[in-house]
Amino acid sequence: MKYDVAIIGGGPVGNYLANLLARNFDVAVIEAGNSFGGKACTGIIGKKSYDDLKLPKKAVLNTLRGAIFYSKIQSFEIKRAEPQAYLVDRKALEKILAEKAIKKGVEYFMGARFVGFKKGRAIVQRFNRQFDVEAQFYVGADGLRSKVAQEMGVKTKAEFLSGYEVEVVGEFERPDFAEVWVNKELNEDFFFWVAPVNENLARIGTFGSLDSLFKFLKMRMLKAESIVEFKAGSVGFGWRKPWVKGNMAIVGDAALQIKPTTAGGIAYGMFCAHALAYSLINGRPKDYEKLCNEIKKQISFGMRIRKMFLGLTQEQIEKIFEILGSREAVELIERTADFDDHAKTVKAIIKSPKLLAKLLKVSPMLLRHLV
Ligand SMILES: Cc1cc2nc3c(=O)[nH]c(=O)nc-3n(C[C@H](O)[C@H](O)[C@H](O)COP(=O)(O)OP(=O)(O)OC[C@H]3O[C@@H](n4cnc5c(N)ncnc54)[C@H](O)[C@@H]3O)c2cc1C
Repeated sequence: MKYDVAIIGGGPVGNYLANLLARNFDVAVIEAGNSFGGKACTGIIGKKSYDDLKLPKKAVLNTLRGAIFYSKIQSFEIKRAEPQAYLVDRKALEKILAEKAIKKGVEYFMGARFVGFKKGRAIVQRFNRQFDVEAQFYVGADGLRSKVAQEMGVKTKAEFLSGYEVEVVGEFERPDFAEVWVNKELNEDFFFWVAPVNENLARIGTFGSLDSLFKFLKMRMLKAESIVEFKAGSVGFGWRKPWVKGNMAIVGDAALQIKPTTAGGIAYGMFCAHALAYSLINGRPKDYEKLCNEIKKQISFGMRIRKMFLGLTQEQIEKIFEILGSREAVELIERTADFDDHAKTVKAIIKSPKLLAKLLKVSPMLLRHLV
């Protein structure tokens, strides 16, 4: 059978896209894994995005109402009455989306690894057997090491980081709060996160070195011997260009649609899947990138924040914590915070002359990165 669209990669973004396309096209999903899930991913998704994307509540494990930010020597808390983010079971999310897509008529090839194109067909390897899948349009939703991106000849100068995440048993007194720890003495590359699943279990991780994660666990008074799950993966911050070429496109991690501030990629990938679906349904695949402009702006902004973070010393971070932990700043952040739109909060902060003046005293380069 010749499909209209073959999606290579049945992760969250590929399965989501399959649902969006199912009503208009004959769709195939080619997934290398023998089952869904298993990828390193904390599974935190902003509640607003989760609801806007109409994702299944059944996959939600926990609801987060706020976050506690810790530096080396101080902390402050941002909280809201309303839930701000969900902690999601990735395997459940992917499987529910695949089941829904199949019910809409999408055909799945599980345990089938795409190895390249030959004469316009996708060559697929399943155990020791090779076969091909033919489609009019091919979408690479095959993650960070995208084979489709490679076949398209896309270029990148992105920053790639290894990430380590554990699920650990401990006491988490406030399971509706995530913790964000910024301590460059432990990790220069990224912050540490603690995302409780419940009062006795949390997902803890960072990007950078595994060693730093173990040091953090010790500091956080958690035992390496209480780890019940260990995962490693990677993220990339930056651009892969182009996202569409001829009858091929990339989406999700394959296109580096990842938030450089938090390394979250599920929501951005799915929003871009909407743009791609819309452009395909209208027969104008070239419009895809333009329709992702909002996400592109967020990624650009996130990259500036990342650059700024990398240039800060711990001493400067302490000063920034002092400013952001002030009552005025906390109130402002609580009013404007949006899990997937950090630019909104930063814009609000720099519009406050008092806060901006204090921040510029920490380092004038902040202005260059923020404005
Ligand atoms: C440690 C860590 C923590 C993270 N935490 C979060 C978080 O809390 N929230 C968040 O939003 N994001 C998080 N992310 C990022 C998130 O995991 C990704 O952005 C998300 O998985 C992107 O989804 P995707 O469908 O584009 O790609 P993937 O999830 O990578 O899915 C790609 C799919 O393609 C398949 N595939 C790959 N190659 C082939 C091939 N050749 N042929 C066929 N199939 C193929 C894979 O098996 C996989 O199923 C985290 C990442 C890491 C590393």
